[in-house]
Amino acid sequence: MNLAGKTAVVTGASSGIGAATVRKLRKAGVRVAGGARRLERVEADVPLALDVTDEESSRVFVEAAVEALGGIDILFCNAGLALGRVPFTESTEADETTVLHTNVDGVLRITRLALPHIRDGGHLVFMGSIAGRQAYPHGASYIASKFAVRGFTYALREDLLGRPIRITTVDAGLVETEFSVVRFGGDREKADAVYEGIEPVTPDEVADCVLFALTRPPHVNIDEIVVKALAQSSGARVVRA
Ligand code: NAP
Repeated sequence: MNLAGKTAVVTGASSGIGAATVRKLRKAGVRVAGGARRLERVEADVPLALDVTDEESSRVFVEAAVEALGGIDILFCNAGLALGRVPFTESTEADETTVLHTNVDGVLRITRLALPHIRDGGHLVFMGSIAGRQAYPHGASYIASKFAVRGFTYALREDLLGRPIRITTVDAGLVETEFSVVRFGGDREKADAVYEGIEPVTPDEVADCVLFALTRPPHVNIDEIVVKALAQSSGARVVRA
């Protein structure tokens, strides 16, 4: 399927997988509205400020995107984060709340606000994680949030069945982005150690997965894509050189 002339809304467009997907969509001829808190880093046709944890910000974002694009063919709910890598007994309510508000409430909110504007033939893509399929130690709130994303997309598939809207979740393993820097509160050394001795998947390679799902024929729904580095078998198991 040719994407030229279509429109897309991407959350978390300022960095990593979101930014890479915006680039690839635009290259494919899609007009893209991208949102993030760091507006200055969003390189989209329509760059917009967005905090998915904030109802008003999310409402204004979707309204502005629809106004600029005229309607939505593709929604990529990608904004998300993890905070900390500690046993649950050391987890804090503040971190848990931020993770769940961003990764779960934010996804439901943006989807609910955008759905009335999704055109027939539209496609909803969600950024999940292998953390949403199998637990690993010391990531409870993130794991809970990504299991929730997967559950939500299954439920949405049921509720939208019969409508011409496709739904895909992309569950990635280790991808080298700012994700680990954010997770470790800006500690570059800890973040770099996550990717040490392996060749992780790149943001562009995840974006390729998104575009693969988007470009299938309209009657084909790619429900889920799971993509990991060859050196990673699960969230807990990585072989390092
Ligand atoms: P990243 O480089 O840190 O990008 C995260 C994006 O989310 C940024 O654009 C950030 O923008 C945005 N974001 C965070 N909180 C937000 C909020 N409250 N409102 C709006 N935007 C917000 O990390 P990434 O790896 O590309 O992460 C993208 C998605 O992939 C996330 O859902 C993550 O869970 C998922 N994922 C990542 C990996 C990995 O290993 N990297 C693996 C599997 C899944 P601002 O900070 O500018 O708002």
